[in-house]
Amino acid sequence: MIIAIDGPAASGKGTLGKRLAEHYGFAHLDTGLLYRAVARVLMDRNVPLADRDAAAEVAQNLDVSHLEDDSRLRGAAMGEAASVVSAYQPVRDALLAFQRGFGAGQPGAVLDGRDIGTVVCPDADVKLFITAAPEERARRRHLELLRRGEQAEYETILDDIRRRDERDMNRSTAPLKAATDAVTLDTTHLDADAAFQAALKIVEGKHS
Ligand code: C5P
Repeated sequence: MIIAIDGPAASGKGTLGKRLAEHYGFAHLDTGLLYRAVARVLMDRNVPLADRDAAAEVAQNLDVSHLEDDSRLRGAAMGEAASVVSAYQPVRDALLAFQRGFGAGQPGAVLDGRDIGTVVCPDADVKLFITAAPEERARRRHLELLRRGEQAEYETILDDIRRRDERDMNRSTAPLKAATDAVTLDTTHLDADAAFQAALKIVEGKHS
């Protein structure tokens, strides 16, 4: 069984994906980490993010092991940089086969990102589109960064979220949008537990 979760930056889809995967004993792939890792390699090599060919080359040769353990990938700067390189079609093409093959040989898999239900797994058994008001997403991300000891201003985070939404929704390749057969879950007024229960209900409803 494949569960596809999409949604904008800081919508809580990662936390939700992880919990659903734990609940069902499925594998979980946070696909944002792939794009973040491409951006990080470029930055480490002092290659401008605007260099499409270099970004494609990095994506083709990306070491996808241990991404989960790399805390630097989760910082705000890497999210912004990821949204630049993720707009390049050759970068997306290079990462597609790995994402599609991820669930193979597993009892099930949960993938979260921007284009899972639309491009990566169009035949997923369940598709969730997780959203929340930008102000609420910024509030959550602000708390998360402070907890991790990162310097963070609420207004800066809100600007970053709006800019990333704009870029992710309006790019020509694999723009962020709900698949026509996705169920949208607005978590603006839900805490993490309530969001998990609501998502579980949707998944169970699809399979009862
Ligand atoms: O989800 P996360 O914030 O880690 O994603 C970072 C960036 O990577 C997003 O803003 C988006 O541009 C890109 N991304 C994407 N497709 C995915 C996952 C992430 O384009 N499936």
